[in-house]
Amino acid sequence: MIQHVPAASEIIAREEASGRRWQDEMADLVTDPAELVRLLGLDPKQLPDALRAAGGFALRVPRPYLRRMRPGDPQDPLLLQVLPGAPELEPAAGFSGDPLGEAHANPVPGVVHKYRGRLLLIAAGQCAINCRYCFRREFPYGDNHLSRTQWQGALEYIRGQDGLREVILSGGDPLVLNDRQLARLAGELAAVPHLDKLRVHTRLPVVAPSRITDELLAWLAGTRLKPVLVLHCNHANEIDGEVRAGLQRLRAAGVTLLNQAVLLRGVNDSVAALSALGEALFDSGVLPYYLHQLDRVRGAAHFEVDDETALELVRGVREQLPGYLVPRLVREIPGERSKTPL
Ligand code: SF4
Repeated sequence: MIQHVPAASEIIAREEASGRRWQDEMADLVTDPAELVRLLGLDPKQLPDALRAAGGFALRVPRPYLRRMRPGDPQDPLLLQVLPGAPELEPAAGFSGDPLGEAHANPVPGVVHKYRGRLLLIAAGQCAINCRYCFRREFPYGDNHLSRTQWQGALEYIRGQDGLREVILSGGDPLVLNDRQLARLAGELAAVPHLDKLRVHTRLPVVAPSRITDELLAWLAGTRLKPVLVLHCNHANEIDGEVRAGLQRLRAAGVTLLNQAVLLRGVNDSVAALSALGEALFDSGVLPYYLHQLDRVRGAAHFEVDDETALELVRGVREQLPGYLVPRLVREIPGERSKTPL
């Protein structure tokens, strides 16, 4: 039964009219499953399970993302990515807390160094959104929340790695940091002679497009390092006009835009959904880069798509789209030097 939809529409219209800044969006996330259920007019019977699952991994949804969900539809592909539910609480063989073994590739706090030429700098311990399938849902962000001294330690480590070419700002979502902090960090990295690329892994321009500020464009365009932004977008419905406009501004600023999606049962496991995603990304100036097989993290088993089906889907997409819009189907295997193509 659809409830309260007019109220949700009114709230949404008020928010759109107010021209909110991204900091306002971050301060006003939907974190209470009861509010999410109410705003979307969903069946309140889902609530007890949602509350239990949110106890282990909190609900976090920016309101611009919520606006793109279909009211009254419990199978909405955006809703399924964020709504906590009972399947998360069921144990599943082969699913663990640290599916990628990152805990062993953490040489100094804040750094995950698995590959020779590039490393991850955990620039922030939070995201704007909590995706239920996230492989880092149990990552010890608390231990990687960097003090000033630890930041210096991480930079020192980067300076000492001659073979390093690229630093990947990751998290959490690095764009939850403000542009002043990020510009300073980009400056410190640009001063390391052996680096030539700076990559940012982020979902924020998709879930809260007001994050694409003039200041963000200025430091990305102003660094001597080649800027690459890898988005995380799983479904064409995640891209509305505002997201598209923001991405086009990034592109116009000279930022290379790529996307990595995760193949998720019930969300994008059809040729039609994956093809529509490829087209929507291209319309926004973004190339589909990777389609990831799910990392087997505890609580995410219900999203898994088997390899045979995944390969079949990619074959289907190849028949629909030009080759440059067909993402590479990959899996991350602990201990491997790079992602493993299927
Ligand atoms: S945005 Fe990425 S890192 Fe953050 S919760 Fe979602 S999948 Fe995890």
